[in-house]
Amino acid sequence: MPTEKIAVIGAGIIGVTCAYELRHNGFDVVLIDPQDNEAAPSLKNAGALAYSEILPIASGSVLYKVPKWLADPRGPLSIRAGYLHKIIPWLTRFVLASNEKQVQATAKALAALNLLSRELCGSLYEAADISDAIKRAGALHLYESERERSVAMPGWRIRERNGIRFEHIDQSELRVREPALAAVFYGATLIEDWHLVSDPKDVLDALFCLGRESGVEFIRESVLDVNPSEEGVCLSFEGGAPAIRVGKALITAGAWSRILVDRLGDNIPVEAERGYNTTIVEPNVRINSELIFGEHGFVATQLDSGLRIGGAAEFAGLLGAPRYDRADAMLHKAMRFLPGLRTEHSTRWMGCRPSMPDSRPVIGPCAKTPNVLYAFGHGHTGLTQAPGTARLITDMLLGRQSMIDAQPFSPQRFN
Ligand SMILES: Cc1cc2nc3c(=O)[nH]c(=O)nc-3n(C[C@H](O)[C@H](O)[C@H](O)COP(=O)(O)OP(=O)(O)OC[C@H]3O[C@@H](n4cnc5c(N)ncnc54)[C@H](O)[C@@H]3O)c2cc1C
Repeated sequence: MPTEKIAVIGAGIIGVTCAYELRHNGFDVVLIDPQDNEAAPSLKNAGALAYSEILPIASGSVLYKVPKWLADPRGPLSIRAGYLHKIIPWLTRFVLASNEKQVQATAKALAALNLLSRELCGSLYEAADISDAIKRAGALHLYESERERSVAMPGWRIRERNGIRFEHIDQSELRVREPALAAVFYGATLIEDWHLVSDPKDVLDALFCLGRESGVEFIRESVLDVNPSEEGVCLSFEGGAPAIRVGKALITAGAWSRILVDRLGDNIPVEAERGYNTTIVEPNVRINSELIFGEHGFVATQLDSGLRIGGAAEFAGLLGAPRYDRADAMLHKAMRFLPGLRTEHSTRWMGCRPSMPDSRPVIGPCAKTPNVLYAFGHGHTGLTQAPGTARLITDMLLGRQSMIDAQPFSPQRFN
């Protein structure tokens, strides 16, 4: 029976899932979050349990599109002027991670983590009484031309080698499946094993409540400093609440983990990759699956709260003001692809993905001390990978053999 108290710092989807899993396995857990961060992506992401997303963003097919995307001021990728010099080390690692060997290794590691998460998700959501939040909607990667599809083919071959099932469909079948789409698409790739949640915020709230009901303590504060010693860890707070002492601390603060990690003197290149979306309450169109407009860097998903259209990647750090024209640009394109789309009743949002240059989350102990562990850096698939991440962390803390190899996610890979 574990006796140490564990502090979980950050109550996004990774933090709440880890807190519950640790408590469920007998740990004394305190979860800490100021709960005032509108840019936390766990609140308003696209809601996909995207188990087939195993390809790193850094890959040949993405690098091929980068110049075109960067040249378009309203395109899906941008680096804010004044931020380029800060992000050069991250970009260098990103380019290095795009070699064939790394891409294969990352795909294998993410396939294992996603599969583990898929296996655990059902019982986790059942425990939280949200089994009915999962919709087996499927996803369609859309292509406007034969050329676009052939550029995507190497990626599908990697997925196939890692056990992902999919089917290429032609224009006529696409029309039957998604009658609301304009007839500009050459075809699509269908992934049946792609689930959507009714709304990511509902899932986050339900898992937070599940943890609390199971005995997870909660402190509504922002952690200022994490001071490890041989006996444990001392945490101080920004709001001036008295510091607390725990046995171990787990940092799950998403993109904001960088601040705490830097203060610990560790070197983990997690970067804020901003994404934008618009949620439309009465869109006047209905889609059946998640629609992925890969060439344009955005997706459309039907959630309970409305039709959500978003994506994009903007590098501007944690603090720069949102540029909602990025959300508008995606919406305008969506209006072309979904004729009949009405946008009157809509809200725009910006969230900071915690992104690693090699697209692998960081799961494991800090290099400086075994009393601090990390679980952040899930980039585009944190909702999907939360159950597997929580299991890996729990296994590490219990000294239990994990069902998958955690080595590819080691924080030490950057040293
Ligand atoms: C537009 C968009 C669409 C996406 N779509 C999907 C999708 O469909 N499927 C999917 O799987 N993933 C998706 N993602 C990615 C996913 O949302 C993220 O990977 C995931 O939410 C990261 O969760 P997290 O818990 O690590 O971080 P966060 O959600 O950022 O949570 C971190 C928490 O830490 C807290 N915190 C920060 N600093 C401190 C501190 N010092 N002390 C205490 N607490 C602190 C914050 O308040 C916050 O609550 C999407 C992301 C974006 C931006």
